[in-house]
Parts: sequence; structure tokens; C-alpha cells
Amino acid sequence: MFLIGVFIHVVFLISIFDIYFKSPIVKNIKPHTPNHDALADRLVLFVVDGLRAESFLNHSTMSYLRSVGNSNGRWGISHTRVPTESRPGHVAIIAGFYEDPSAVVKGWKENPVDFDSLFNQSSYTWCWGAYDIIDIFSKDQSINSHIFHSKFDPYDQTFSSDKNTTLLDRWVFDKVQSLFENAKVDENLNKKLLDKKIIFFLHLLGTDTSGHTHKPKTKNFITTLQHVDEGIKNIEQLIRDFYNNDGKTTFLMTSDHGMTDWGSHGTGDDHETKTPYVLWGAGVKQVESDEKHFDVETNSMILEHRYDLNQADLTPLMASFLSIPVPVNSIVIISLYLGSTKAGSSRHFKRK
Ligand SMILES: [Zn+2]
Repeated sequence: MFLIGVFIHVVFLISIFDIYFKSPIVKNIKPHTPNHDALADRLVLFVVDGLRAESFLNHSTMSYLRSVGNSNGRWGISHTRVPTESRPGHVAIIAGFYEDPSAVVKGWKENPVDFDSLFNQSSYTWCWGAYDIIDIFSKDQSINSHIFHSKFDPYDQTFSSDKNTTLLDRWVFDKVQSLFENAKVDENLNKKLLDKKIIFFLHLLGTDTSGHTHKPKTKNFITTLQHVDEGIKNIEQLIRDFYNNDGKTTFLMTSDHGMTDWGSHGTGDDHETKTPYVLWGAGVKQVESDEKHFDVETNSMILEHRYDLNQADLTPLMASFLSIPVPVNSIVIISLYLGSTKAGSSRHFKRK
């Protein structure tokens, strides 16, 4: 009798893992090629690691991105899910699904199963950032040879010597600049950069590191945000110059997760799950309303430009701009309308 009792307990215990810790990935799905015209030839994705919505919307620190969101761009809150960690956040943004629970047992470091991503569906993607994020999407070079990466080790002494967290982001900005400079002498690279359906992904870790080390609202944190804001402005100009202002680049800034006042993330606090996003550039539907109202939940952000969404919605949104297949593991039903097409009208614009 005792043994039967133990047996039943073991079966029940295993069943929980079998039911809840199973990969949601369905294999062997064919990507669906969209038949609409692309709204942009290229997309630049900035992920400001650890930037919470409050730091962006309720303070004037990131003045450039705020002005873009309130003028020719759109902004909103991107709601993340728990665990509010870097890996599941990036998977939701770039692959469109919420991380496989079985990744927990692998310490979020290795891909438990292969999954599709925006980068995989692009013609070419260039990514820069911390190795543990970049590797999620570019590790298997046998199938990802069109994904180019440049990564750093954030624990390297170069970055920790003087606790200056802006160095992490400076590294990324400098590398992007070098790429475009190299293109002037490297014909092969130049040809690739002139291709369509390409993505640039900048993973900016400085804010997360500053949040952990110095906590949000501190002087160091604010300096890091200002540096990111300025850096994104410069990269945008660099790219516009390279492409002779052809108006075919879409830009998206968002974050993988937020940060508590005491410098942590991982759980479901509003400061951790609410991240900001700003979308601007080619194909972004302009606000037609002449009326402008301040959003009372924020510090002087314009309500008419706001459109909140869930983090995984960003994947089909970006895929739509480039007219590339939505990554096959994406779980999102597209109900948003931020892009501008000839057939578009403002009646599609719905607040959630
Ligand atoms: Zn992170």
C-alpha cells in the first residue's frame, strides 16, 4: 500500500512537469510569405536593456526619443510577462512567443529547442551587444550565416574598471559606426547593406547594468539614459546619411524588461513588466488628429500618439514593415495597426 502511495505521488509530480514544462514550439511549420508591399527596406531595432516605462515616460531624461514619439512617431507601453529577464524578453520581441518554460532548467543560456526569429527571416541581420543575448539568435552559423554579429563580454575588465556603464553602449555605437565606414571600402559589404529586408539590432546593456549597480533615478542611471538617447539619435543620423535620406528605414526602440527601485527584475511588479517603446521612420502611420492632449499617466507625453501593446506583438509588427514572414513560432494574432499603407485609414487605430 505504501509503495502504491509513493508511486501515485511520483506520477502526479511528473505529470506537472509534463504538462507545464513542455515546449510550446510546434515543429515543421512552413513560413508564410506575405504578399503586401514592404513599408520599409530596413529596420533598426534598439533594445535598451532594463529600461522601465516609468524612467522613459515620467521623466524628461531621454528627450530625443520622447520628442520623436510625440511628433512623427508612435509610443506606448509594451507589456512583458514574467519572468522579467533578458532572455525571455528578447525572445518575445524578436521571435514573438513567450519563452519556453523548459528553458528554466537550462539556466536561460542555451536554446532548449530551435525556434524561428525575425533575424532568421531577414535577408541579412547585423547584431551588436552582450554575448548571452546575441548568441540566442545567431549561435548556429550553419543555418544563420546571414546573421552577422559582434559581441562583448560584459564581465570584461574593460567595462568594469571605472564603473562607467556608458562604456557598454559606447562599444555598440562605435561598432555600428565602423560597419558603415567599412562599407565605403568593402564592396561586398556595401552590396549587402543595400539589400532589402535587412535588420540592424543594437543590444544596449548599459541601462540594465547601471540599474543593478546604481539603482534607477541615481545620477549614474540618468547619465546612462542620456548617453543612450544621444547615441540612438546619432546612429539614426548615421544610417540616414548612409542611405542618402531615402526614407526607407524604420526605427524601433524598446526594452526587454523593467527594473525595480531597488535595482532588480524578474518578477511581476509594474516597474518590471511595463517597458516603453517608440516607433518611427518609414511606414509609420502618422497621427491625423489635430487635437493634442497630454497623457495624465505620463510627464507630457501626447495621448494621441499612444498605442499600448504586448511585448510579443512587436515581432509581427516589425515583420510587417519589412514584408517578411512572421516567425513561425509567433503566437500573436495581429490586431494592431501602426503601419501606413495606401488602403489604411485611422478607423483601424484602436486603443487596447
Ligand atoms: Zn535584460
